[in-house]
Amino acid sequence: MEETRPAAPGRGGPLILPRAEHSLSRRDIDPDALKILFRLQRLGFTAYLTGGAVRDMLLGRKPKDFDIATDARPNQIRKYFANAFIIGRRFRLAHIRFRGGKVVEVATFRSDPPPPPEGGAGGSAPLYVFGTPEQDAWRRDITVNALFYDPTTASVIDHVGGVADLRQGRIRVIGDAGARFREDPVRVWRVIRYAARLGFAIDGELAAAIRAQRELLGGCSQARLYEEFSKDLLGARARDVFALHREFGILRLLLGGIGEALENDGRMFAASLALLAVADAEKEAGRAPGLDELVALLLWPWAGPRLGTGGPDPFPLLKKAFLDAGMVVSLPKGLRAQVIDVLALAVRLLRALGDGNMRWSVRQRPNYEPASRLCFMITQGRVPEEGESFELLFQKAFPGRPPMGGGRPRRRRRRRPVTPQ
Ligand code: ATP
Ligand code: MG
Repeated sequence: MEETRPAAPGRGGPLILPRAEHSLSRRDIDPDALKILFRLQRLGFTAYLTGGAVRDMLLGRKPKDFDIATDARPNQIRKYFANAFIIGRRFRLAHIRFRGGKVVEVATFRSDPPPPPEGGAGGSAPLYVFGTPEQDAWRRDITVNALFYDPTTASVIDHVGGVADLRQGRIRVIGDAGARFREDPVRVWRVIRYAARLGFAIDGELAAAIRAQRELLGGCSQARLYEEFSKDLLGARARDVFALHREFGILRLLLGGIGEALENDGRMFAASLALLAVADAEKEAGRAPGLDELVALLLWPWAGPRLGTGGPDPFPLLKKAFLDAGMVVSLPKGLRAQVIDVLALAVRLLRALGDGNMRWSVRQRPNYEPASRLCFMITQGRVPEEGESFELLFQKAFPGRPPMGGGRPRRRRRRRPVTPQ
């Protein structure tokens, strides 16, 4: 059974913008993505560039990645491209891999699955069915993400009114927002992300739908939530994205007690935003901060004060605070341990910067580098430049102290506890 949706209201077919009427230049398309597009078309398939790449290029921005939509089926894509790998549990699509880790995603046009029968248990309904380009546009999340670019004619194809929304700077969900959020609550998150990242408006009706459906996010798979969370942090304008999440009350839904604290305490949250802005500037300068650093920056204003009197080893205290927070987005264990270790070490370094008691042996700790960098960012509001470091900050604050590694006699740590006789 195939579901069909009506074309954009008031139009017979899609709006087609010829080359002269848009600013997307073929030269800005990744050459490998362009080769895939032309190869598919030479083989007789329809193949378009779509998603964020078309949206960003029309806005004159550099796209993060290049997604392709085609009527070639996944097994055909694999047949014609030796470097194609079929992936995905929810949707089967092809990743075409290139040297240097570049991946171009090639997905077959599909339509939304038919809705499960009223009162039915669902479960047996297919996750998706292949469809036409028009159906593929209609199953997407927001109008500005559903445009196609045809490389042969250099035209932009718009089935959903995305061009007008792009021009007017407005985020609009394709179809009925409430229903689309119930179908896939991650769309609530995506609406907020792209509104913030693009600086686009969310109208009152959409804002009300977000508020009405946001609780559904808590029921999404943890893996998907973690994926979206990392996209927000790693992507552009994380500061603005998190600010808008807070406005819509999303943080407490995702980050449990930590999110509640960030939403309730304006000063704490402002400090998080200021640190994310430092990281955003780094991204713009082409130096991508790691996910561990970004999580540490977001959470520092929550974690720091908690550890003010944390004793000699803040690690267990912070670990417990993390577990008690009941985060819905659960960080993979390795990342969580890394973030906790960096935060805990940063607390010790900051204390040293306050009271001058520095044990330079901490420099041997594997996370000393990221922790000292975090300290620099917290205290200076920017990343250290060439020749700057935490050590120099310390020496400036306490010029009389013995130099690193020397001066103080080292106390030998006892390896085995002495058992009382
Ligand atoms: P960017 O990659 O710059 O963050 P993007 O729009 O390309 O932006 P992706 O996550 O790469 O985002 O998704 C590619 C496209 O897939 C989107 O543009 C959208 O059309 C569609 N899409 C992604 N997630 C959903 C979803 N949950 N529901 C419907 N369509 C989606
Ligand atoms: Mg993308």
